[in-house]
Amino acid sequence: MVCQYLSNYYLPTRKEDPRDAEIVSHRLMVRAGMIRKLSSGVYSFLPLASRIQHKIDNIVREEMDRIGGLEVKLPIIQPRELWEKTGRWELYGPEMMRFKDRRGAEYGLGPTHEEVITDLLSYEVDSYRDCPLLFYQIATKFRDEVRPRFGIMRSREFSMKDAYSFHADEEDARKSYREVEAAYCRIFDRIGFDYRKVEAATGQIGGSLSHEFMVLADTGEDLILYCDSCSYAANQEKAEGTVVMPEEEPARELEKFPTPGVKTIDDLIKIDSEALPERQVKTLVYRSGDRPLVLLLPGNYQLNEAAVEEQAGGPLSEYSEAEIKQLMGAYPGSLGAVKQDAAIKNLQVWADPSLKGRSNLYTGANIDGYHYRGVDVGRDLKIDRWCQLRVSIAGEQCGRCGNGKLQEQRGIEVGHIFYLGDRYSRSLDADITMDDGQKKPMIMGCYGIGTSRIMAAAIEQSHDDNGIIWPRSIAPFDIYILPISWANDQQRKQAEEFARIFEKQGYEVLVDDRDVSPGVKFNDSELIGIPLRITLGRALEQGLVELTDRATGSTREIPVEQCLEQVEVYLTENGG
Ligand code: ATP
Ligand code: MG
Repeated sequence: MVCQYLSNYYLPTRKEDPRDAEIVSHRLMVRAGMIRKLSSGVYSFLPLASRIQHKIDNIVREEMDRIGGLEVKLPIIQPRELWEKTGRWELYGPEMMRFKDRRGAEYGLGPTHEEVITDLLSYEVDSYRDCPLLFYQIATKFRDEVRPRFGIMRSREFSMKDAYSFHADEEDARKSYREVEAAYCRIFDRIGFDYRKVEAATGQIGGSLSHEFMVLADTGEDLILYCDSCSYAANQEKAEGTVVMPEEEPARELEKFPTPGVKTIDDLIKIDSEALPERQVKTLVYRSGDRPLVLLLPGNYQLNEAAVEEQAGGPLSEYSEAEIKQLMGAYPGSLGAVKQDAAIKNLQVWADPSLKGRSNLYTGANIDGYHYRGVDVGRDLKIDRWCQLRVSIAGEQCGRCGNGKLQEQRGIEVGHIFYLGDRYSRSLDADITMDDGQKKPMIMGCYGIGTSRIMAAAIEQSHDDNGIIWPRSIAPFDIYILPISWANDQQRKQAEEFARIFEKQGYEVLVDDRDVSPGVKFNDSELIGIPLRITLGRALEQGLVELTDRATGSTREIPVEQCLEQVEVYLTENGG
């Protein structure tokens, strides 16, 4: 039961938008007195935001408990040696914040906790009988993001619910994956999100099966591609489409021609106007493990690094221009993979399927300042493997059903689940003894929810020109009681009476007892977005009060005696 009087509360609302805010949730959170910036990507949460965060965390906690999750608290400070065992001290790169203690030992601030929990369980769990286990925590994470922005949407210090499951076999791990997936749906349903579950790339966490939960919003940083005919939906990083190519003219002969100074796709078009981007074979060379990988895709597409890393089973890194010259015989700008070229013979070449069967294309000759025209992919190029290398785009045919077309929409990633297999348990010796006496690494899953990001995502999805519109499930209070004048005896007494009654009924009430103008009170009540407002004004002399629905703005005048009943009706209809 909660009843707060604003004169005892701390609600520093502002009229002005913060200058660094690019999206509405960031603007409104600062204006509604919820967050304040300490430094880039680092924020303090004021009382209002803390209340909302608690509500979000509680929903997450309830649903994790319901599927048997056990809450734990894991250290933020994590030693280098542990991360070296999984290879991630290197792999995680500059996103991990690192420091040395007074003895010179190195640590990272936990960006995620696979290493810590797996290491812990490697000492605790010996037998298949101890499995399955599902541990979770709601805790602060640190990531030195390349571009912290959008307030707490992408911050460097943020709060995450992370969960890890441990299993004796793959089947059990997949079962758990599905249970967490269902729990996530319940969480996002309860919050009232309009969201979509999509197939996702696994990035450097590793693993083979993964889904993201995307809150649909135009300001989302992720692009989702979904099929307009079947249920396929995927993050653009992962999406598989097929490109329908126009009929080719009969293949011409392969011809080498001089292209002095050509470095880019546009440069080549200036020399030969038929060399449109889609006719040029983009040739890229990356280091994968300790070997070079030559990647071919049409010039009008972007390379999908995440997809290539998944195929290659590890991260890609770049070569210097000098190293490329050494490998290929030419600098970037004149690279190609034409069969007869000696340089290409010993290199692995992967090509994007959208190049299949095409002819009359252009490619570099691996001689600076020379290209080929009339390239027939099947006849002329050395290709060792076909796999998707391009980022798919809207308009491609669905790679799943083959019937529909891929459409796009933007999303905010609020959750991400991974089937990990034994990626971590193997490197950290988290073995168990099976019933036949054999030892083998446990099978794992890991599951994240951006609990602080959820707050921002909820605002992106639910606001108007006047401010935030909280869904009831995470609203900081249920009812805002607004007496026009606190100095007016009748209004004050009625406000206090309402506060008592509603609190007793289990509602959370905020009473605006400030000595400020009615305009300020109305503006603040709209800005902070409490679902229901009761206004006590002059009509109270006739026994009437006003009930206003924040979401629709609709206002009704009702007799005081009917107020409790009406509030109940309203709040039950709106997610009570
Ligand atoms: P993103 O692609 O947005 O950087 P991620 O794939 O790195 O996210 P995960 O490692 O899967 O994220 O983390 C789990 C969840 O934590 C994400 O789904 C997201 O909701 C949240 N999250 C990740 N990074 C941040 C951040 N910098 N600020 C706030 N929340 C974040
Ligand atoms: Mg990230």
